Formats: sequence, structure tokens, C-alpha cells
Amino acid sequence: MEKKVMKSEEDWKKELTPEQYSVCRMKGTERPFTGEYYKTKTEGVYTCSCCGAELFLSDTKYESGSGWPSFYQPSVAENVKEETDSTHGMRRTEVMCNNCGAHLGHVFPDGPRPTGLRYCINSVSLKLKPKE
Ligand SMILES: [Zn+2]
Repeated sequence: MEKKVMKSEEDWKKELTPEQYSVCRMKGTERPFTGEYYKTKTEGVYTCSCCGAELFLSDTKYESGSGWPSFYQPSVAENVKEETDSTHGMRRTEVMCNNCGAHLGHVFPDGPRPTGLRYCINSVSLKLKPKE
């Protein structure tokens, strides 16, 4: 699928914070237990911090103990893109925003029911819109 938001690396660099840029565009990982949302229980919708696409709902967020926000399923399946990532000597599945290509985190097959999946997402890739 074609990415809907196309921006140059220069544009992203200008718009994003250095931390956002290194995680979302350079596929970095924030340090565990440091992110804004790993403990958050506020109800609402988690959107992409780069483009605002809806990604996850607070209802599917759970405490995984990993130190990163964890969800068992995306809110809108088409907004999340998954791709095999073989970097760092591991075979993992990378999760990206399908709208702008931002790196979000990884998905692992050790999550709770009903999906058995754990979407392990960097806080810096997310923006919580609290329920009103
Ligand atoms: Zn996005």
C-alpha cells in the first residue's frame, strides 16, 4: 500500500522532537520504564504522534511488565503495517504507522487473549487523545 503522508527526512527532522525523530524515523527504541504512556490508564484513543492516524484504544492496553505501552490489538487494522525485521540478530515483526511510515515498535506472540499478541509500542510514537 502507498504511504499517504510523504515528507522528506528534512521535514520530519524539523517537525519532530529529537527523541521522536530517532524512534519514529530512525527506528530507535526508547528506554523501558521511561516513556510517557507505559503506566497510563487514561481512557482514550492512541494516535500516531507523527501524523495523527488512530492506532490503538486504551481498552486494549494492558500491563505487560515490559516497560513499554502494550496493546493486544490495533484499533484500526489498516492503519498499522507489520513487516519482518531481522536486524539485531533477531527475527521480529516491526509495527509501523501505515499512514506515514513511522516506526511504532514490535509485535510479539506472547500477549493475552483474545489475540495472543503483544504490540509493544514506544510512547514517543503515540499521542493519547483522552476520552471526553
Ligand atoms: Zn503516522
